[in-house]
Amino acid sequence: MEKLTFTSPVFGPIHSRRLGSSLGINLMPASRKVCNFNCIYCECGWNPDPLQPKKKEESLMPGRETVALALEKKLRMLAKEGKSPDAITFSGNGEPTLHPDFSGIVQDTMVLKNKWSPGTKVCVLSNSANLDKKGVMEGLMMADLRIMKIDSAIEKTLRIINNPTAGYSLQRTVSLLKRFGGDFTLQTMFLTGSIDGKVVDNTTGQELEAWFVLVDELKPRQVMVYTLDRQTPAPGLKKCPAEKLDSIARVLKDKGIDVIVAG
Ligand code: SF4
Repeated sequence: MEKLTFTSPVFGPIHSRRLGSSLGINLMPASRKVCNFNCIYCECGWNPDPLQPKKKEESLMPGRETVALALEKKLRMLAKEGKSPDAITFSGNGEPTLHPDFSGIVQDTMVLKNKWSPGTKVCVLSNSANLDKKGVMEGLMMADLRIMKIDSAIEKTLRIINNPTAGYSLQRTVSLLKRFGGDFTLQTMFLTGSIDGKVVDNTTGQELEAWFVLVDELKPRQVMVYTLDRQTPAPGLKKCPAEKLDSIARVLKDKGIDVIVAG
């Protein structure tokens, strides 16, 4: 598949299905994905083989000062052109909360957006798997929007879809997400298909029943449901049909929950 890689530390603005015009911040190396999940649908492709030797520059994450300088330069330029973005989004080649200076960088980003682009929202896209690491919760709370991934309320299915590293626990993640008191967006990718001879489908009646219970438990202020948009590293995956996404969204809307659907 054609893998997306993002320059580091600032890229775009790009048009995002979910966020509008979005200036990206990639806290991972420019040429290498770093993530503690290995999702079967990841637009950056599979994680690199840990046994493969890598060049030193491929491992380097940008430092806090480098990110702030690059971001200020870009925001100043966009402000002068009258093209301030709708969002500044932490995403890119992996999981942003793995950066050791994550909270300091979010802090700097908030200062810079208030200076150059006060109408812009600072968003973090996260796989929710590092909430117990030092500074991660604090960094996420500083941002305007936290978009937190949970792709299934059934751990066995989540493990097939997301391939988390050892030590991951869905139950623990859910209890940590509750600390946001609902002040986050829950993001779920719906898909069907098969991988390595195993059926994967997080749209079955049983899956959705468990997922709606999870939504009730977490009470997020917004839910984002979406499906595949690009070729996936795992062949044999299929989009969730738009009608199904709409029916999931209808159930949530009937409960008074704000929903974004990206089919
Ligand atoms: S959490 Fe995001 S970056 Fe990590 S593997 Fe999954 S889709 Fe890719």
